[in-house]
Amino acid sequence: GATGISYFRLGTAGTAEFRAVSKINPNNIPPDGLPPDTQKRVFQVVTPALNVRTEPSTEAKTLLPSEQLRMGERVEAIATSRTERVGFIWWQHRTGWSAERNLSTGEVLMADISQGLPAPAFVFQRLPLDLNTMKWFYYYGNTVFAFLYGRANNYPGYSQGLHGGLDFGHPGGAPVYAGVNGIFDYSGNERAFGPNRVDVIVGNHLIIYGHVANPIRLARGTPVTPDTIVGYIDNGAKHMHLEIRYDKSNQNLILNPLTYMTNQMFNELNIKFPPVGDFAFYRSSRWERWLTPFDQPTIVRGGPVIGPTA
Ligand SMILES: [Zn+2]
Repeated sequence: GATGISYFRLGTAGTAEFRAVSKINPNNIPPDGLPPDTQKRVFQVVTPALNVRTEPSTEAKTLLPSEQLRMGERVEAIATSRTERVGFIWWQHRTGWSAERNLSTGEVLMADISQGLPAPAFVFQRLPLDLNTMKWFYYYGNTVFAFLYGRANNYPGYSQGLHGGLDFGHPGGAPVYAGVNGIFDYSGNERAFGPNRVDVIVGNHLIIYGHVANPIRLARGTPVTPDTIVGYIDNGAKHMHLEIRYDKSNQNLILNPLTYMTNQMFNELNIKFPPVGDFAFYRSSRWERWLTPFDQPTIVRGGPVIGPTA
């Protein structure tokens, strides 16, 4: 099968798989409550394979083994069928019932595309830094680091007080891979991503590989593949900041790169670098939102501070 894509059965999955079940642009998560008064709700599958069941249930006997929806497929659901059961939101469609969202983690399996942004349009084929060379990893969004040190790093002015990407930590020298099939757009030094950044376009998304040394130099428009080395971890920066902006022209939104990773990549990252201690999501008696890797907001670049530092 496709590189790194793991297939998933709700009825047999363990806790880690449940956590990793989906990838979603958080902007696509509709507010809780009743669906609008229309005949249909249109979703797009945003996980490699989404199960169809005879009932809104995770029991094995409800699985329709020959019926699986694939990433990117459109699903027209009955607007009045929304059901919350066994920790998921379910919708009934042409062939059965499928889960939209895990209620405890916020992770989404199929995204409402009747409003907001399109569902994630690509997935990384490999991690930009090999997992076994990574020394640490920071998540996107409401992190402890962003709360403690965001002000010193201009997070309030740039990324609404949150961490606008994923950080892949290494002492220096490790190759940074594009990880995607895309189009080289730019490389060079820019203060905010010093010493260098490399920009690659995929569809209508712009990927920034920040803080790299020896950046690749290509003619604008040259294709890159997942194995293309775009630069190396810098001895000073000691990490690569991976940022995804949408759309490629106005770049006003910053998206959670985890939503563009396969389930297997997320599982491996989450096991090796669980969000605990200094790497955890920020929580306090007065701040109890955005506490899991996928339940994080889309960031409006340059927008008002929305996190716990607000
Ligand atoms: Zn970063």
